[in-house]
Amino acid sequence: MANVSLKKISKTYPNGFRAISNQSLEIQDGEFMVLVGPSGCAKTTALNMIAGLEDVTDGEVVIKDRVVNGLSPKDRNIAMVFQNYALYPHMTIYQNMAFGLKLRKYTKERIDEEVGKAAKILGIEDLLERKPSTLSGGQKQRVALGRAIVRHPDVFLFDEPLSNLDAKLRVQMRVEIKKIHQRLKNTMVYVTHDQVEAMTMGDRITVMNKGQIQQVDTPHNLYHHPINKFVATFIGSPAMNIISGKLLKEGVELYFVTSEGIKLKIPEEKASALDSHCGKKVYLGVRPEDISLSGAENSFEAEIEVLEQMGNETFVYFSVEGNQFISRMPSNTGLTPGSNKRFFVDMLKCHFFDEETGENLG
Ligand code: ATP
Repeated sequence: MANVSLKKISKTYPNGFRAISNQSLEIQDGEFMVLVGPSGCAKTTALNMIAGLEDVTDGEVVIKDRVVNGLSPKDRNIAMVFQNYALYPHMTIYQNMAFGLKLRKYTKERIDEEVGKAAKILGIEDLLERKPSTLSGGQKQRVALGRAIVRHPDVFLFDEPLSNLDAKLRVQMRVEIKKIHQRLKNTMVYVTHDQVEAMTMGDRITVMNKGQIQQVDTPHNLYHHPINKFVATFIGSPAMNIISGKLLKEGVELYFVTSEGIKLKIPEEKASALDSHCGKKVYLGVRPEDISLSGAENSFEAEIEVLEQMGNETFVYFSVEGNQFISRMPSNTGLTPGSNKRFFVDMLKCHFFDEETGENLG
């Protein structure tokens, strides 16, 4: 098992494009770390630098306390699982899983044992004599995982391994990969653009945007204590509501006001941290579940525009003074589109982001 460190790494591609600039990340021994961010944020570039598939322009990649910058992928004791399973079509599943071990000159008995063990973990023992073309996507992905497991790598690297699978299978494989991690306890680094996948799988998650690490934290902390507006709106589905306005002091009270006339009182518990930002332009961030149909203050009357029935809950869309809101309500509220309702905002749970820097002010 192994820790992985990226120490002030930068990557400039041959065409001059700087994908990553001076970023550092510590991945603990045995940790399941997810790298997540929108397309093009450089998560694959970061993973490929750990794997040795891309050169590091500046900085150091350390695996198991050893600088690996100059080492080829095969000398790093890592195993990669990709979105396209990259199985050899002319070989059986057994041969696919055994291939890497054969190259390492393992004995026939040892290979049998390793492939047998991995096949059992993955529940693919009855597929070993088949060819890849006769397997479903989920089965192929299990074989790709098996090929990684038999090698006993220090670190598993996953690049969007579930993207080719349908939604149901993706959820199933997500759980299987987690189970494998709990059983093997290896360090795993997992790249995805899907924040739900990130939240459900990661011990910790690295949120990236435009080649910059935004926040490295547990799923709980990313959701409840996002460091900035980018993280706040990227994590969570439906996404956080964002309204542009400013902080205004009236007497001893602090308010969030918009130019269109929305005025929300900030509770004392929150106001003290925000006091120094009085007069500043900010974004108010409200999670959909922090808007409800009951409360004492901080409400607005609005017409329900659209209802999305999810079965266990309902997403309610409405707009106030030109601002579009989505709220998450129980499914039995009896709401109808076109009717007017009073919506209450739980200001204690809200976030305020600096309009210029996006920083979470409290
Ligand atoms: P995706 O989710 O779409 O795969 P990503 O976050 O994994 O995106 P990367 O593939 O790491 O992003 O790419 C990061 C940036 O580097 C992108 O802007 C991409 O266009 C650029 N890039 C990637 N490979 C090269 C290359 N070989 N030459 C030049 N630019 C590249």
